[in-house]
Amino acid sequence: MPIVVQKYGGSSVADVSKLQKVAEKVVASRRAGNDVVVVVSAMGKTTDELLALAHQVDESPPRRELDMLVSTGERVSMALLSMAIQKHGVDAISFTGSQSGIITNDRHFDARIIEVRPHRVEDELARGKVVIIAGFQGMSYKREITTLGRGGSDTTALAMAAALGAEHAEIYSDVDGVYSADPRKVADAQHLPELTYDEMQAMAEAGAKVLHAQAVEAARQARIRIHARSTFDQGTRRETVVSENAAEGPGAVVGLPSLALVRLPDCEPSAVLGFLRESSVRPRAFIAQGRSASFELGTGTVPDWSGIRDTLTTRFQAEIDEGLGSATFVGRAAGHKSEAMLQVLDELGIVPRHTRVEALSAGVVVDGDRLDEVVGGLHARLVG
Ligand code: ADP
Ligand code: ASP
Ligand code: MG
Repeated sequence: MPIVVQKYGGSSVADVSKLQKVAEKVVASRRAGNDVVVVVSAMGKTTDELLALAHQVDESPPRRELDMLVSTGERVSMALLSMAIQKHGVDAISFTGSQSGIITNDRHFDARIIEVRPHRVEDELARGKVVIIAGFQGMSYKREITTLGRGGSDTTALAMAAALGAEHAEIYSDVDGVYSADPRKVADAQHLPELTYDEMQAMAEAGAKVLHAQAVEAARQARIRIHARSTFDQGTRRETVVSENAAEGPGAVVGLPSLALVRLPDCEPSAVLGFLRESSVRPRAFIAQGRSASFELGTGTVPDWSGIRDTLTTRFQAEIDEGLGSATFVGRAAGHKSEAMLQVLDELGIVPRHTRVEALSAGVVVDGDRLDEVVGGLHARLVG
């Protein structure tokens, strides 16, 4: 039987009635003759709420305990979904990340999957059951519970699809695919029917949260097509397919809020990189020239930022500019767009802090309170 891997995000399972609709979709796919594996996220805003709880106890909480805490969110939705499916008379079983064989490195709150051993999943599929897997979590080789970074349930789905030999994975959320900008923020964002892995990964890394960057990487390595769809699409069947080959589209503009620009006028760059690695923090655009260095950091997904910021200023005498945002054009024409980008900023009366041009992307760093305006302006000029 063909194996179908479906992932449902937090908004798709936000309450019991939505969860029951998801159960109906899963049951329909099972009754159509598929072996179905379902990856679920935590219900609604559960992960944010758990993080807020932790921050009430400690402004800079220990990451191991954060993983113990936030991994419970997906455990709730997996169990409830399994119950809802069984109510239809279809056999189902839920597994945590560790039970489903997701083995990661030991970087708490930002772990990478190093291996998937899906034997229990395969056994239960062979018994005719639908298998529900808690997204976003795994177990390190030290047998510790880890999580895969915000949005990491997508990565669970793609890693599992690869391990099971599925040829595609279906990622269901509250949008019917990927757009040329966040459709919640830019009214005339265009639907993109197809994208290459490279384009989608560049978008995810620039901050488009519709798909997790590591999920795209996993899909590329195993050559698995990603179908990004809406859970409750009212029958339009619109989707975005991410694969190796795709016709060139108009490109996309991606905004990333909560960006910090860190400058270290006099440091040992390798010591700074060592500290960032030990803190499980991934800098963007790290540049060192002699004893001076600088990098960017999206702090919105760093749960212990306040402690890391303190160490950067006290131990490394860092100068930190917070409250910035980046706006990035992603597309094959990126190399030719930077001049027009700077014109748009000029018209808005903004001098960017940073401008960067890479193979598939061109980006600017601006004050966070002007970010939406910049993204809208760039989209209108470069894509619209
Ligand atoms: P889920 O909880 O299902 O994983 P996410 O919230 O992680 O869903 O991702 C879907 C959201 O991504 C959408 O609601 C949309 O606001 C946002 N988004 C950001 N950029 C884009 C884009 N370029 N195309 C589509 N959605 C985007
Ligand atoms: N629940 C996790 C988060 O909110 C993982 C996910 O939704 O993919 O980041
Ligand atoms: Mg997501």
